[in-house]
Amino acid sequence: MEINNVKGTHDIFAGEASAYSQVEAMMKNIAELFAFMEVRPPVIEHSEVFVRGVGEGSDVVRKEMYTFLDKGNRSLTLRPEFTAGIIRLMVQNKLLVTNELPLKVYYCGPVFRYERPQLGRYRQFNQFGVEAVGNDSPFVDLEVILLAYTILDTLGLENVTIKINNLGDEESRLAYKEALREYFKGLLPKMCPDCQSRYELNPLRILDCKVPADHALVKSAPKLKDYLSEESKKRFATIIGYLDTLGVHYEIDDTLVRGLDYYSETVFEFHYVSAKGNDYGAVGGGGRYDKLVKEFGGPDMSGVGFSFGIERIISVLKDDGHIPADMPAFNLSFYVIPVGDKAHLTAHAVATNIRLLGYSSDVCFDDVKLTTMFKRAEKKGAKFAVIIGEDEMNNNKVIIKNLETKEQIEVAQEDFENKIIDLMSEHDHNCGCHEHAHDGDCDCGCHDHDKETKCCCSGDCDCEDGEECDCECHEEKK
Ligand code: AMP
Repeated sequence: MEINNVKGTHDIFAGEASAYSQVEAMMKNIAELFAFMEVRPPVIEHSEVFVRGVGEGSDVVRKEMYTFLDKGNRSLTLRPEFTAGIIRLMVQNKLLVTNELPLKVYYCGPVFRYERPQLGRYRQFNQFGVEAVGNDSPFVDLEVILLAYTILDTLGLENVTIKINNLGDEESRLAYKEALREYFKGLLPKMCPDCQSRYELNPLRILDCKVPADHALVKSAPKLKDYLSEESKKRFATIIGYLDTLGVHYEIDDTLVRGLDYYSETVFEFHYVSAKGNDYGAVGGGGRYDKLVKEFGGPDMSGVGFSFGIERIISVLKDDGHIPADMPAFNLSFYVIPVGDKAHLTAHAVATNIRLLGYSSDVCFDDVKLTTMFKRAEKKGAKFAVIIGEDEMNNNKVIIKNLETKEQIEVAQEDFENKIIDLMSEHDHNCGCHEHAHDGDCDCGCHDHDKETKCCCSGDCDCEDGEECDCECHEEKK
């Protein structure tokens, strides 16, 4: 009997797995450029972490948690989000007992929510995010928004809209919740069952109702902005002012409340419509939280963070053409082809040599026709094939074929390592921008480093005299 994956989960493999790794590596790298350190909380936590942290009124806690009793009768939950577990981690490990705050951390990994599976909505999906805890300066909100913005920009996502709102401080929200209860009291019988239970637990969540029949009632509800304290309004205006100064575009959306109960003050979401016009909704979101650290027994301090849904970001990148449909599983440099039985061991030795030089190589394990082996090499996206037959073994040489240009050379064993290094370095620096580099327009990066040896303008460039050429690397040589 065939056993399939669990409903709402998805297998990630081949080129897609490579796309996930690259996107996650890029996000981690940018977080580290912003001096955020990695944390890896466990996937399972005591259910209490999320019930108290995320809030009993949230849909996540009410309906979506994977909660079970373990063999010791403890109620455990697969994390439905990271923030609550990370605050638990910070408090338990006393990471907030330091003079230098905020403590800035990033995370990446799977989360689990028992939602109705649909396009872009899974029961196990991956999130990347950050938390900056222990400093309530508006500059910390700014830094977190800028970090998220830098990641989306570096990924090449051009059609991002940052939606931002002010949920106010606790007092403002309490007053507003009361006003909402008053307004919805008589309307409840006409509203969906979800909104009826949200009414008691957290009436703010009614504003996020997705049931079309409730929309008109929600639209005429009292507005949060009319209940905000002066201090909270001032704080929000400061952050908006910073974004304006730095040229970060945003939209103020006073209906944005976010799905998790712990948010206060600034909240934001990153919405995306692809170049083809497909609306992906939120690819990420976050905000400030005031009470979470105290809830876990830590000091009375606030934090701010965001999380991206990696699945959504990968879909958007595919839709915008940043991830090709035939993305290779990895960047294979060399495919080693043994011709004949006796060549197999030598082929493995050659492949090992290449790997020790730091380049990837794979070996054909089967005795199949040479044309089949070349097809396999191309299918794996190899840049070069190394061919070893009886003749080559007898004469201590190999054949290296460039699979893009189809050029083929014979290389003696003693020259092999140097040749591999030369070929790879030529390949990596062959950015194809030789011509336009002279206009100073090339931003491929390879002109900036290794100017002495690797600049593709060196040697046979006809503008060597530097008269018409403003390519920087000639300056160095002059
Ligand atoms: P949240 O923790 O609810 O703020 O979600 C952060 C981001 O995770 C969202 O903006 C989505 O991009 C993504 N996300 C949330 N729920 C799902 C889901 N069920 N499947 C895939 N991605 C999700």
